[in-house]
Amino acid sequence: MTVPLEAPLRHSNGAHWGRFVRTIVEVETDDGYVGLGEMGGGGESAELAFQGLKQYLVGHNPFELEALRFKICNPTASLYNNRTQLHAAIEFACLDLIGQKLGVPVCDLLGGRLRDAVPFASYLFYRYPDPETGEGEVRTVEQLVLHAADLKSKHGFTSHKLKGGVFPPDYELECYRALAEAFPEDSLRYDPNAALSVEESIRFGQAIADLRNDYLEDPTWGLNGMRRVRSMVGVPLATNTVVVNFEQLAANILDLAVDVILLDTTFWGGIRPCIKAAGVCETFQLGIAVHSSGELGIQLATMLHLGAVLPNLAFAADAHYHHLRDDVIEGGPLRYEGGAIRVPDGPGLGVRLDREKLRQYSELYRELGGYQYDRDPGRPDWFALVPNERWADPNVSLAPPLR
Ligand SMILES: [Mg+2]
Repeated sequence: MTVPLEAPLRHSNGAHWGRFVRTIVEVETDDGYVGLGEMGGGGESAELAFQGLKQYLVGHNPFELEALRFKICNPTASLYNNRTQLHAAIEFACLDLIGQKLGVPVCDLLGGRLRDAVPFASYLFYRYPDPETGEGEVRTVEQLVLHAADLKSKHGFTSHKLKGGVFPPDYELECYRALAEAFPEDSLRYDPNAALSVEESIRFGQAIADLRNDYLEDPTWGLNGMRRVRSMVGVPLATNTVVVNFEQLAANILDLAVDVILLDTTFWGGIRPCIKAAGVCETFQLGIAVHSSGELGIQLATMLHLGAVLPNLAFAADAHYHHLRDDVIEGGPLRYEGGAIRVPDGPGLGVRLDREKLRQYSELYRELGGYQYDRDPGRPDWFALVPNERWADPNVSLAPPLR
């Protein structure tokens, strides 16, 4: 299914073309419960991949989460079939089922909540205007600062994340410093999705070192690149890219390259692996935060239950959520209050599907199909290099068609 965004979100590899494509998973038990899971982010439906898992899952007891991991994510069998992200969505659904069956929220299955609400950062993207309304463009410094001010006044954010890697680094530096000037009390983070070279990352990192930075997120590609940046920049480095499993986490601890590990319930294969990883980070005194790979309310609930139970969560979480026009959960989109979203209280994940919305947005997916997440609708012949050097031009205003 596909849910519209306020405007197309630009990033270093291309864009979200005015909508998210997400695959909703429902796991039913023989005693009548239905657990919810969600996956997506790359612009395509994963429906067939989940259908292919059905024979592995029928008859499995949802309480047996460790067995589930080995049944579908055995590390050597995964050389052929990497199902980490599929496993995540099934794990969400099983935790939802267990919580419903026991009448407790998922966070109570995971150690219990330490906080009732999870703070979020503003997650600012450069955006194309919506081609139908002409609204929503974020390209100039002024547009960016206005957009951040609007989000701050609507939702109460006190931390701002600039998603970069779109325009030349010097231009994005100017944007970042303008945000710092506009919101001197707030903290900042910059994430160009590893589009910068090591040397450009060092230059950028040194140029923001005087600001109130949470961290510099994936300025460059690879643990070795990040280690070189870290050796010359006095800002903590974060990643959601090169430490996304336990092998990489171990490698990063043995030879430190990244200070803050951004835990993504999809990339790590579920909520429980994120909690395990957070425990390792707690032991070694690495920072953590909750990462967003794009979400509707079901995935957002997994991020909230995760954020609720992590003792060492010292940073605001990320969410794309406020760029969405709607959601498929009952009661409509979850709301920000004071920059935070309340952890659902109901049993399981605490969110239920709105069938009518699901029907409406499944229909919209059938009409629009997927999109090329790693292409830019405004530059059809372009594709990203790593490190990139072919930046978009911040002086050009486009409203490209989105099909
Ligand atoms: Mg990132």
